Amino acid sequence: MKNKWVSQKVEELKSSPIREEFDKVAQLKSEGIEVIDFSIGRPFFDTPSTIKEETKRALDKGMVHYTGSTGILELRNAIVQRILIDKGVRYDPGEIIVTIGGTEGMFVAIQTLLSPGDEIIVPDPMYAYYKGWINYAGAKCIPLPLKEVDFSLDIEGLKKNINSSTKMILINSPHNPTGSVFSHQNLEEIAKLSKKYDLFILSDEIYQRITYDNCKAISIASFPQMKERTIISDSFSKTYAMDGWRVGYLAAPREIINQIAKLHQHIISCPNTFVQIGAITALNRSQQIVEDMIAEFTRRRELTINYLREMILPFVTPKGAFYVFPSIKGFSISSEEFADYLLEEARVAVVPGNAFGNAGERHIRLSFSPSYEEIENGLQRMGKAIKGLRKNKVNP
Ligand code: PLP
Repeated sequence: MKNKWVSQKVEELKSSPIREEFDKVAQLKSEGIEVIDFSIGRPFFDTPSTIKEETKRALDKGMVHYTGSTGILELRNAIVQRILIDKGVRYDPGEIIVTIGGTEGMFVAIQTLLSPGDEIIVPDPMYAYYKGWINYAGAKCIPLPLKEVDFSLDIEGLKKNINSSTKMILINSPHNPTGSVFSHQNLEEIAKLSKKYDLFILSDEIYQRITYDNCKAISIASFPQMKERTIISDSFSKTYAMDGWRVGYLAAPREIINQIAKLHQHIISCPNTFVQIGAITALNRSQQIVEDMIAEFTRRRELTINYLREMILPFVTPKGAFYVFPSIKGFSISSEEFADYLLEEARVAVVPGNAFGNAGERHIRLSFSPSYEEIENGLQRMGKAIKGLRKNKVNP
């Protein structure tokens, strides 16, 4: 119900459907009901112990006071090195801001660049918070449906949506929720269009290092003359299983980063001090931990897609991130009803596709992050429940 004390901007914000699913699962678990959770968007791994140990040492050494608002220089230097290796783009530490995860980074980037009336084109389905962040800036989110066959970008559709109000394009590759990785050709086309129509790019690269089948996720900032019109948002949440630490970063041209830094300062003053030591450790130590995690995700992905094949649920094999986005078009119920049914009948939690925008409807998102055993158990239960649905002729 509308409250007269609450601003219209906040009143209009919708809480994330993923968080709602999270709360539903937590409620069931608190009642002692066992649920297998395929809805959660985090690695089911612990943060590597070296990162924890260095952070504890930092606390013991008294690193408990404010740092500079854009983050410790040593961390920004380590980020610069990592970007050069992973994304092939050379930044200066003055072009980096350490953020409270990708969430704060994306929020401040959007609020800094978009004014009321501006349009930003976003591939649909999309990460659930994007629309809220864009609306909060008073700007307009223009959803661009991904191609259903392979969840690739529809470049012709993109061209049609560009007009005099278009200011930005938001891309997220590897993509949540589909696991799609945008091709070199697709990104090149976007780069060309952004230069032709003078558009800025916000590139959410939070899953960049998590890819399969020798697929490489390319940063659009690495294309000629693109660094100057791109903001990269990245985070430690997924790559290093540090989602609860709340640390990430933005990389952008200095004149843009200086503007973003003002808003960032107004919101958080500075990132958490000892957490930044954990982040430095993550970047500077052996990256074998990341390789091991990806190898395990690869096993879990295989298991998941084999079960989906058995269930005859059509899907596009994910090339990155740790999600698969099967279609439920063969059933005559909505994605929300489908997710509720699975929770009720199989005690399995998935995210309804409509949580990610209109183009997500008639799909569900499954995270293949839970343990191998949980995936087996959960997907067997899901398979039985789906058979039940088919028997009851819920499908047309
Ligand atoms: N962007 C995408 C596509 C995500 O999936 C997430 C988290 O799930 C985020 C940004 C924000 O992550 P964090 O704030 O933990 O870095």
